[in-house]
Amino acid sequence: MGWRQKFLSYLAQTTDMPMLVEVSHAEGNFIYGPDGKAYLDLISGIGVSSVGHHHPAVVKAVQAQAASHAHVMVYGEFVQPVQIRLAERLLEKLGPPFEQVYLVNSGSEAVEGALKLARRYTGRPWIAFFDHAYHGSTAGALSVAGASWLARGYRPVTPGTRRLPFNDIAALETIDKHTAAVIIEPVQGEAGARPADPAFLAALRRRCDETGALLVFDEVQTGMGRTGRWFAFQAYDVVPDIIVLGKALGGGYPLAAFAARRSVMEVLTHDPMLGHITTFGGHPVSCAAALAAMEVMEAEKLMEGVAEKERIFREVLPDVRGQGLLLSVPTDSFAHTKAAIARLLDAGVITDWFLFEQCRLRIAPPLTLTPGEARDAARVLRDAIEATRER
Ligand code: PMP
Repeated sequence: MGWRQKFLSYLAQTTDMPMLVEVSHAEGNFIYGPDGKAYLDLISGIGVSSVGHHHPAVVKAVQAQAASHAHVMVYGEFVQPVQIRLAERLLEKLGPPFEQVYLVNSGSEAVEGALKLARRYTGRPWIAFFDHAYHGSTAGALSVAGASWLARGYRPVTPGTRRLPFNDIAALETIDKHTAAVIIEPVQGEAGARPADPAFLAALRRRCDETGALLVFDEVQTGMGRTGRWFAFQAYDVVPDIIVLGKALGGGYPLAAFAARRSVMEVLTHDPMLGHITTFGGHPVSCAAALAAMEVMEAEKLMEGVAEKERIFREVLPDVRGQGLLLSVPTDSFAHTKAAIARLLDAGVITDWFLFEQCRLRIAPPLTLTPGEARDAARVLRDAIEATRER
């Protein structure tokens, strides 16, 4: 049996149409197949590989940490400088009011932590969320999934959540004194890179202030430079009470986090003590990779290049939506999307669709993509979309 057959046979599948790209290794903006075929990566493993694949600085940091120690104790007990250095760096970039970081393993887990924290801090039951939001696959995260079909078949998920229309200021009235938190992606990733209106986010902040609900920004996809700032909230000038990070945070290694003021975060330490714990959260190797990736972001001025490449994609392709390098381009149908993806794979370009938007192609490349690669990729994308259009 070949690798593809074994993959299909032995690994549990998530769809009946996996991409089946065989990976030999990955370097920079490219992933290589066993036959030496190079694929330009336009999706970064879904928003993860922002500093490119196999960055030498990340590899070196991982090797050094692995040679020193791996897991030593569950999160929150032992003093590990690598975790502390990362938290300190993150808080420096987040700015006030953020004072403490809680390190976990995945975006879903960070969302769970943030929602538990909001309920525990406010003593209130309700969580509000938005249409077409994606916050993860665990039961708590599924309870705030913005498309009900995703949770169908898995109910009951966590009760006490209420869905609101996105970018609809009037609907914010339903946030009230029983609302613990409102969770939102400043740019909705899985909705096909759909940005919140600045006036909507500002109104949401005001409504949360009026009612005492905590505002939670899920920046799992938008954070760590993807939109051209360290965090998308910095461009909106709306500061959340809790921020959730993941994906690119770990520089390619599993790591996620939620951050808040100390006065909010400290409620997790009592009534009940150990109310939120994790074995591997803040794994030292992941923290070392994360620190290295943050250094690369600065040393290579990767955020400074985001706007130029966004402009290139917008110049070459029609109706590009999104912010920074979290973009999408429309197709006519899901069949068209799939045909374009297949044609692009043949041409050595990896793109993808979105969980809640089947008529758009995803453009979320490593931030290390060069302007020349961006232009070439945009042209290949444009041609593939045209060539696969049903007439
Ligand atoms: N929030 C957002 C905005 C996401 O895009 C994702 C993952 N696509 C998650 C949460 C969940 O992260 P993970 O898959 O690491 O659990």
